[in-house]
Amino acid sequence: MEKNVFYDYAICHYDEIGIKGRNRRVFEDKLIENIKKGLMAGAPGSFEYVKRISGRVIVKLSEKGKNDIKNIEKVLSRTFGIAYFTFAFSCLQDIDSIKANVLASMSMKKFKTFRITSQRSKKDFPMTSQDINVEVGAYIIDNIKDIKVKLEKPTVNCFIEIVDNFSFIYFDKINGHGGLPVGVSGRALLLVSGGIDSPVAAYYLMKRGLEVSYIHFHSLPYTSQSSLDKVESLVGILNNFQHKSKIYFVPFSDIQKEIMLNAPDKFRIIFYRRFMFKIAEEVSKKEKIIVLGTGESLGQVASQTIENIIATADAVSMLILRPLIGFDKKEIIKVAERIGTYDISIIPHEDCCSLFLPKNPETKANLDEIKKVEKVFNIKKIVLDALKNIEIKKSLT
Ligand code: ATP
Ligand code: MG
Repeated sequence: MEKNVFYDYAICHYDEIGIKGRNRRVFEDKLIENIKKGLMAGAPGSFEYVKRISGRVIVKLSEKGKNDIKNIEKVLSRTFGIAYFTFAFSCLQDIDSIKANVLASMSMKKFKTFRITSQRSKKDFPMTSQDINVEVGAYIIDNIKDIKVKLEKPTVNCFIEIVDNFSFIYFDKINGHGGLPVGVSGRALLLVSGGIDSPVAAYYLMKRGLEVSYIHFHSLPYTSQSSLDKVESLVGILNNFQHKSKIYFVPFSDIQKEIMLNAPDKFRIIFYRRFMFKIAEEVSKKEKIIVLGTGESLGQVASQTIENIIATADAVSMLILRPLIGFDKKEIIKVAERIGTYDISIIPHEDCCSLFLPKNPETKANLDEIKKVEKVFNIKKIVLDALKNIEIKKSLT
């Protein structure tokens, strides 16, 4: 029996809750597509194929891939839909081959205690999982000195999976982010600032299967180009989960001036937001995007009281998702650190909204009053002009 030193497969497991019935195929096809795209971007040439076998997706590693485990791990750990994954050795589907390969791979490890954990999904294999555990375990004890079986918390847990025509042997399970494959839920347009919150909101939208595009409003030339670059860097990091996306940059200073001239100071931010939403809605219609998203969290700042959220959301008929609505700032920061956006978000920048901030912003906006004031604006023209000046950038991982 040849000694198998390199992993030859990655096995991706997903939670099956919520993907029963017809949805299951859609889920699996998208997951396979996303894994392939991710590997092509993050570990090019690393696989021979990616395919579904019963209840799992397997990646057959190429020769190049066998030497690129670190990058493959990075990609798989960021692919939504994967609950956990492993790198595995494969061998022939007979007990002698399994024994020899388990011994070969365990001989490379230092340990005092171990267990064998078998799973037999292929029911016509002549032994039960328990038979396999006992026979392979005894063989290992006979062939490696000074070790013993320990079922609870062993130093080494050797997993054996017998599934379809494969026998897989592996040791470590690596956690993924879970969630649903990006794209299975449709497309969202996220209002992204350079702050901490909205990038985290993007993460949660993608996690539930939405493919995210981004729209950012800027006050060039009153603010600097660096705030746009910042948004681009943030989206670059978020692309770890999606690989490519579009950013719509909308010049906003003319609209802000018009608002400053025509609306009471205290309503300024509410009108900024209403126009942002209206423009985002028009972009969505053109792009067949079905939902908007923001990084709002209830009560976090004066502009995010429930009254103000109601007064701004009323500007459009589209659904607006606010995945952070129930998060404390501390919790949001933790996620931002984990996904790698925090360090960029905290670089000081000038946001278009903070630029022309009123002294006493309204914290409990009255919708009727807002609507009355809004009559002075030629909304159609303002939105159309904004659409003409949008700059679209494609962003890759
Ligand atoms: P963030 O950290 O995302 O900037 P925040 O706590 O600073 O959020 P606000 O500045 O009140 O809160 O913004 C609330 C939400 O409005 C943001 O999460 C984002 O979705 C949207 N938003 C704010 N400014 C902009 C902008 N310049 N362009 C696009 N969207 C924006
Ligand atoms: Mg902000």
